[in-house]
Parts: sequence; C-alpha cells; structure tokens
Amino acid sequence: MQSTRVSFPDGALSGEGEVLLVDQAASIVVVDATPFHPVDHTWPDQPGDSGSITVGDVQLRVAEAVMAAISDEGALAVGSDIPVKRGGEGWTWMVGHRTEGAIPAGIAIGARVTLTVDADHRHALSRGHTACHLASLALDAALADLWRKQIGTDPLGSPDFEGRANQSSRIHADGSVDEYRLGKSLRKAGFDSEGFAATLDQRETRINEILAGWVASAGESRIEVEGPSIIDRRTWRCTLPEGEVGFLCGGTHVRSLAEFASISVSLDLRDPQLLVMTTTAVPAP
Ligand SMILES: [Zn+2]
Repeated sequence: MQSTRVSFPDGALSGEGEVLLVDQAASIVVVDATPFHPVDHTWPDQPGDSGSITVGDVQLRVAEAVMAAISDEGALAVGSDIPVKRGGEGWTWMVGHRTEGAIPAGIAIGARVTLTVDADHRHALSRGHTACHLASLALDAALADLWRKQIGTDPLGSPDFEGRANQSSRIHADGSVDEYRLGKSLRKAGFDSEGFAATLDQRETRINEILAGWVASAGESRIEVEGPSIIDRRTWRCTLPEGEVGFLCGGTHVRSLAEFASISVSLDLRDPQLLVMTTTAVPAP
C-alpha cells in the first residue's frame, strides 16, 4: 500500500479511485486517490471535507475525511490515535473517509468508486482558511511597533507575533478563531503587552483597514505542492499589494481574494493573558 494521492490542492471536488482498505469497526474507507481534504491529526485547524462515495447505485455518506496511517507491522491508526507526526517513518500515510453507518458490501477492496466532496462546505472552509492566514498577517503588521526587541519576521517582514504567540487556530465555514498567549515569555521577548491592551480598539481598526485593502486588491491565491501524495509538503501562496506571501500549509484555499466581499476581525482581551481573534469572511455575491 502507498500514500494516498490527493487532488484537493488543485481545487478538485470529485474524483475516482480504487478501494484499498475497508475497516467496518473504525468506519473507515481508504481509496488510492481522493479529492477529500482530511483534518490533520497534529494541528487540526481545518475540519476535513464531507461528501459521498458511490459505486453503481450504492451511495455512502462521508462524515469527515481524516488522516489514517498503517504501521509497518500492519496496525491501522486513525486521526488523533496516530502516535506520530504526519509523514513519520515506519508508517504509510493515507486519507481515511470516516463514514456514517455500516459500509455496504458494494464498497469493498478493489472496487472502483466515485468520490464527491460537498462543494459548498469546502468553499466555505477554503474562505475561512485564507481569511485566517490574511488576518494573522494583518495582525502582525498592526502590532509591529509594539516590539522593543528584534524578533524573527513573518512572510511580509513584520515581527512574527503569530509565530511567537499563536497557540491554537480553528477554522470553520467563513471564519476562524485564533488564540494567542500573552504571557511572561512574550514580554521577555520584547512585546509591550500593556501598550497593546491600552490600544486594542485602534489595533482592531488597523487590522480591518489592512484586510479591506487586501480584499480590494483581488490578488491570486493558490497551493503549491511538492508531490502528489498526502504527505508531500504544500505551500499556500497569495499575491498582496506588498508582494507575494507564502508559507507551509496543509489546508485548502480560495483561488482569488475576489471571492471575498469582506474579511474582518474582532479582538477580545477579557483575559489579559489570552488574545482571542475572531475572523469573519463574507463571500462575494
Ligand atoms: Zn494554513
């Protein structure tokens, strides 16, 4: 068995493949190639795609695509039960289609099946993921003057607040929620937390101005792949007025910022140690 070939980086929503594995107990079907984007088991920021698998007139609902891995000893592990990071040695990496209900007999090893992703849900998640990345770049830019020491920079050249402080990122349909730890170590690194708290409203306004400019620029957004399998590295690239940005990302994205009517954030610092940034995307009509 080899790693699943994936077509979601090109924006595919349907495809065909041969069933390689059916695990009734785990409700998992593995196909040699799939358009389904799976949730990552180590950094589960973007939910997996939903959709269906069909063969003839047999249709099986896929609740969510997840990562699956088979050890060299033949043990199947699914999602958060996988004990190593994606791509780890000694494992074969696959997209598992987690099904709803019993897997019908027609969907058996060797069967040729058609895979169909729920398009509206995918597109909403792609907008949410692109908006999440743009909001984090705008956040870094809007906080740049709060650093008293030199730290590493993000792809736009701003001090990398995101890289230093982000502790979780959750993408949903047309938006995301990011949490940032504003603790002692960030202050030691030179971040002016008090100055930030005192100017929270202005910072939020500034982020939203930057985002409005980027949406208006209608730049291109795409995913670059180093190979066809689920474990090949993928990079999100986006053209902004300031230049092209790119960073490693396993998720799905819009093709153009023209797909947005707007992207905006709200900042919440009710707990002074924890910044919560909620990002909302509105699709273009
Ligand atoms: Zn990403």
